[in-house]
Amino acid sequence: MDKILVVASNNKNKIREIKQILGDMFDPVSLSEAGVVSDPEETGKTFLENAIIKARAAAEASGKPSVADDSGLCVFALDGEPGVYSARYACEGDHTANSSDEANNKKLVSKMQGKTDRRAVFKSAIALVYPDGTMVTAEGECPGVIIDEARGTNGFGYDPYFLVEEYNKTFAELDGSVKNVISHRAHALAALREKLTENN
Ligand code: IMP
Repeated sequence: MDKILVVASNNKNKIREIKQILGDMFDPVSLSEAGVVSDPEETGKTFLENAIIKARAAAEASGKPSVADDSGLCVFALDGEPGVYSARYACEGDHTANSSDEANNKKLVSKMQGKTDRRAVFKSAIALVYPDGTMVTAEGECPGVIIDEARGTNGFGYDPYFLVEEYNKTFAELDGSVKNVISHRAHALAALREKLTENN
């Protein structure tokens, strides 16, 4: 039986992670491997809305079950910022293009100056949309605190400033094998897997 699952991304790390967790149920392929071009505008107000927009567009373009995730950092002292704008945080007024990790982190550190509440949470939402429009969704979180000085060189995005207190290490200091178990995306994928197993 055709078990192809289009992952609405060309990010190799995301595709590897999805293969690790859903690989026995599906055969995950990237958009380019599926020969599909799909880049809808992420106009949602929540991670889940954006994940659904991306998965639905990929399912419509490919005619195959498609999965998408949307994730970002929510900081308590900043009323949940950068939130759904995590990838574009430093683009003042222009929310169509992404800003660099460096610029985003610089803005985060400057906004956190003098803040005593350092709590933050990485959030991830995942949507799996079938060609008939039915869908299964799941969400995951990973709590931490924002530090002022970058630590570590692994990872991407806000990783060097996001400290997981249980390990006293930032996401950028943690080994990928640990991050892939405790991260927001790992939790969302595990929850999705559980729902898919229940449905079968
Ligand atoms: P995406 O929608 O999952 O591609 O992620 C949006 C943005 O959120 C990224 O560009 C990063 O800035 C941030 N982000 C999401 N997940 C992580 C993570 O695991 N570490 C660091 N930054 C992340």
